[in-house]
Formats: sequence, structure tokens, C-alpha cells
Amino acid sequence: MQLMVSDSHLAAYPFTSDATEHVRELGVAIPDLLQKHAYGRARARGKERVIQAIEGRIEKSTEIRPEFELLSYPLARMIVSCVNDDYLIRRYALAEAKAVHESLKAESREFLTDMGREFGMRLDFSDRVFRLHFTDYVRYAHRMHDPGWKLVNRQLQSGWIRLTEHEFRRLLQEAISDRIQHDLPLEVPSEICDWLSDYISSVKESLGARKTEFEISGEVSPGAFPPCIAQAIAQLQQGVNLPHSARFAATSFLLNIGMSVDEVVGIFGGSPDFDESRTRYQVEHITGHEYTAPGCDTMRTYGNCVGANELCARISHPLNYYRIRKRAEKRSSGA
Ligand code: SF4
Repeated sequence: MQLMVSDSHLAAYPFTSDATEHVRELGVAIPDLLQKHAYGRARARGKERVIQAIEGRIEKSTEIRPEFELLSYPLARMIVSCVNDDYLIRRYALAEAKAVHESLKAESREFLTDMGREFGMRLDFSDRVFRLHFTDYVRYAHRMHDPGWKLVNRQLQSGWIRLTEHEFRRLLQEAISDRIQHDLPLEVPSEICDWLSDYISSVKESLGARKTEFEISGEVSPGAFPPCIAQAIAQLQQGVNLPHSARFAATSFLLNIGMSVDEVVGIFGGSPDFDESRTRYQVEHITGHEYTAPGCDTMRTYGNCVGANELCARISHPLNYYRIRKRAEKRSSGA
């Protein structure tokens, strides 16, 4: 790309070939980067990137020199690779791509086009309109929940799909996330992991806490399901055609509480437009991206908060509802 002119600009897109080249030109030896006091801020920021990714959002750092911000990216990748956990890799890639999506909002269309090409997208920008080849469109858009992304709802002209700038940026985010995820884990020598051991311990601690919070283990207790989810499942089993947002909420909830893809697909079997391979694909996609079930605010926004009861007044997430009810069930059974 020819459009990145400053260090801070490069630091906002650390995964691009220009940024990689710039890091090479800095000529920092890996042992120095990992051990010297002078690079301590870059190492701390590398760890911070990963921990923020676990929490769901990498914040822009305004206090760090662009050079250190740039160096923090390879450090973060080394830390992620040393931990070598699939969940972490997916979450990290997603958070880096989301952070970039924010930066892309301030970029020119020429820049966006260049970035798309760097990521192998076949695209055209003319007459102020983005067009993406339908094969690339399908590759990234099939993951979107809004029906507006479905190919049947798009205008296809000689193999090209028209996109707004906002839509193009969103697909670019997916392409970036894929690339970052695909390149991890790196083959990091054990000596390097040893040097990074303090950072790795903090990341593992944060990762463990996150998994405990959102991966509820143990047997599934249908009696502890919150009313919204119980209702969605009952409707699915009666063959009611639920809106996409309700299906997504039910699917992600069931996966979050530890049900397998097969079990969730089995529940969807009652749906009138049930297509096993398509359903399996969608459920596996939600599993792959480690989506967390929507919180109560989002459920309300989409009209999916149904049958709220007294406990609902004290919680803000259906998973919290489940956790509390499950604990109460356990206590009353004396287990
Ligand atoms: S308040 Fe939350 S848990 Fe209760 S029904 Fe509404 S969305 Fe579900």
C-alpha cells in the first residue's frame, strides 16, 4: 500500500505488509525487544492488546509512541502463539479486526480499496460505488446475521455486488480477522516463550477467568433457562418460524452453556424451514466465532425479551439468569 505515510498510521494497521516491512527496517533484534528495558512499554502494550482482546475490545492507546505501538503487535502475536489456545486465537483476531474497523471509518475510499486488494478481495470502485465479486462477497457476508446481507437480497450484476462504504468496511473487517486468525499460531521457539513467561501468565489468568465466566460447565439444566430462551426453544420445537435475532440468541445461549453442535441442531429440527446442513453450518459458525449470547438490553431492542419475571429484574444477561437458577437447583437437590 502506498497510502500509509506516518508511523502512527502504520501502527493503526500493524498487520499490513507495509507495517511488517517498517518493523523490519527498525532493525530491533528479538532478544532486545524481549529483554531490554527500553522496550518494556512495547511488551506491556503487547500483553495489554491480548488481555483487552479477551475482554472483547482493544482500545486505542494514545500515550504510547507509535513505534512501540507497532512493535506491540508482533509481541502480542508471540504471546498468543505461546499460549496457543484456539479460543484465544479466534478472540484475538476478532478484536484486532474490530479495532481496525474503527480506524477505517476515518480513511479515504482510495485507502479502503487498497486495503481490500491487500487482502485479496476482487473489487472495483468507480462512480463512487464499491463493487465486490460475488465469490468474495459470499465468503465474508454469509456470517452476518442481518437478512440484508443474504445474497438473494442483493443486486448481482455480471458477478459483482454493489456495496455501500459502510458495508465494504464491514466485509473488510471479516477479511482482516480471517487473515490474522489464519496466520496464528506462529512457530515461536520455546526460549522466546520463556522470556515472555510473565506476560503469558497474566494472559492465561485472564483467559481462564473469561472461560469460567462464559462457558458454564456441567450438565445442562433446561429448568434453569430464562423465559426468553425457553420460549424461543418451545416455539422452534412447535415449528414456529422465529426471526433471525431470536434464533441467534437461542443458539449462542445453548452453545455458551455447553451444548454440542449436534444437540443444538437437533433442537432446530422442528423449525419449518429446517435444512440440516445449512443449520449445522450456521451453528458451527457461531461456535467458531465464540459469540456470546446477547444481553438483556439487546434482547429487548429486538423484541426477544419475553416473559420476564422477578429474577429478570436483578440480572442483565440471560446467562446470569441461568447461572443463578442452576445454582439454586443444585442447592435444593442437595448436590
Ligand atoms: S430480562 Fe433478560 S433473561 Fe429475562 S426474559 Fe428478558 S432477556 Fe431473558
